Amino acid sequence: RSALPAIVNSCYYSRFSSTMGPKLRDPSLFKQDVCYVNGEWVKARSGKTFEVHDPATGQLIGTCPEFDAHDTEKAIETAAVAFDEFRHKTGRERSKLLRKWYDLMVENADDLAALITWENGKPTADAKGEVTYAANFFEWFSEEAPRIYGNTIPSSVPGNRVLTLKEPVGVCGLITPWNFPAAMITRKVGPALAVGCTVVCKAPGETPYTPLALAELAHRAGIPPGVVNVITALHATPEVGQVLTTHPTVRKISFTGSTPVGKLLMKQCSGTLKKLSLELGGNAPFIVFDDADVDLAVAGALASKFRSSGQTCVCANRLYVQRAVYDEFAAKFAAKVRDFTVGNGFQPGVTHGPLIHARALDKVEQHVRDAEGKGATVVLGGRRMPDLGPNFFQPTVLTGVTADMALAADETFGPVAGLFCFDTEDEVVAMANATPVGLAGYFFSRDVHRVHRVAEHLEVGMVGVNTGLISDPAAPFGGVKESGFGREGSLYGVGEYMVTKMVTYGGM
Ligand code: NAD
Repeated sequence: RSALPAIVNSCYYSRFSSTMGPKLRDPSLFKQDVCYVNGEWVKARSGKTFEVHDPATGQLIGTCPEFDAHDTEKAIETAAVAFDEFRHKTGRERSKLLRKWYDLMVENADDLAALITWENGKPTADAKGEVTYAANFFEWFSEEAPRIYGNTIPSSVPGNRVLTLKEPVGVCGLITPWNFPAAMITRKVGPALAVGCTVVCKAPGETPYTPLALAELAHRAGIPPGVVNVITALHATPEVGQVLTTHPTVRKISFTGSTPVGKLLMKQCSGTLKKLSLELGGNAPFIVFDDADVDLAVAGALASKFRSSGQTCVCANRLYVQRAVYDEFAAKFAAKVRDFTVGNGFQPGVTHGPLIHARALDKVEQHVRDAEGKGATVVLGGRRMPDLGPNFFQPTVLTGVTADMALAADETFGPVAGLFCFDTEDEVVAMANATPVGLAGYFFSRDVHRVHRVAEHLEVGMVGVNTGLISDPAAPFGGVKESGFGREGSLYGVGEYMVTKMVTYGGM
């Protein structure tokens, strides 16, 4: 057992990240090939590993264990043993553990941010923002942990008393994506631990080191062995997913990722009827009415569309601008986008990093070419940036975008802003809702009646009114339609990990 598998402390990161010194690029630091199971650092039984690459340079960062079905079963069994004890800790005890984990994240924020920049590509400032956001879930849920209780219900039967008990659902399988390597995990693990569940997290293959670093911090926080297990797999992911979703001991799956994989996992969960939360893809409408503060709308669109180079599930994907302010909005928006500095996220002054991999780049390019071919105008960008590295794409603004284009139907998940023109409120609400998914939606207006009306009519799980940023540990996060179900963050997030047991007392 290594005290710390060179994930956080051998570094390093904070010392070398600013200068991009040679040590930061030394892959030997990341060749320990261990995952965190039952409080120990363990290798895959097969000894197999997979490679992790820096999306900015394409260079090898290191390798990680390729966990298979057998390894996953072991992790689940471990979590089941730990559950028997952990569920009986008091809320106050669980709260203290989460709080300690939060404190350690804050103490190690620079290292964690450097890890995120390295394996995900987002610029240092964004990575630091993610660490704060991620840690805040632990803080939030540490505060919820002691305040979880049921009700006393007046019975309709004379002499009876009815109570409800809130109980942890059991062992949870958590599967997260690469776009927020820390926050997607803390948003699930925080509420799970708050109520007394134990977890097996399948870390994303593109960004496994941040989750493993979080595991190290869990260890240092004194979280008991088996309560938090973090496993990795790239090629064997379907097998790992199959075991997590079919093993009878796992009572809950929480998944964040693409809609097709979410549907597959739901099918697989049906055999053992697991509790399920799915946070899936979006295709967010972003509407600018002609009564909006246009400068505020531009600022909101920049934040919503281009954060993480457009690789967030709540990114504005379809920007609808009312005819009277269309040209003004397009000109002001494009002028701001022109000021972006694209590059390696470690370099000072860089505002936007690379995309995660070649597949992402292909999709973005295909959306731009499709729009161009169908009559859209490329106002800005539209091309790859091979001089910067393998995965860079110019921040792109398109005007004259219409409903027949690929980017209207499907989330681009990249730095492409397509501007549609509309005339009436009814028309734009209909266009906004004309998609099978419904995660986030945004609109800008100063008309108080319209603000309420449109918020109620958008078929999404989350609405930003006069803001492009909606993520907050205190607010319920989740979608409707094919964006999934279940809520994360807030008091609602806690409920996802509990079952309500009813007890009737007779003869009182
Ligand atoms: P993805 O669905 O391919 O992968 C997500 C995770 O699922 C990864 O850890 C991956 O290894 C794992 N996975 C893939 N196939 C699996 C299988 N058969 N069994 C078990 N696990 C499996 O998605 P992605 O491309 O990595 O992430 C981007 C997508 O995630 C986008 O569509 C985006 O909208 C969505 N997303 C949604 C949210 C949200 O909260 N709603 C947040 C971030 C990303």
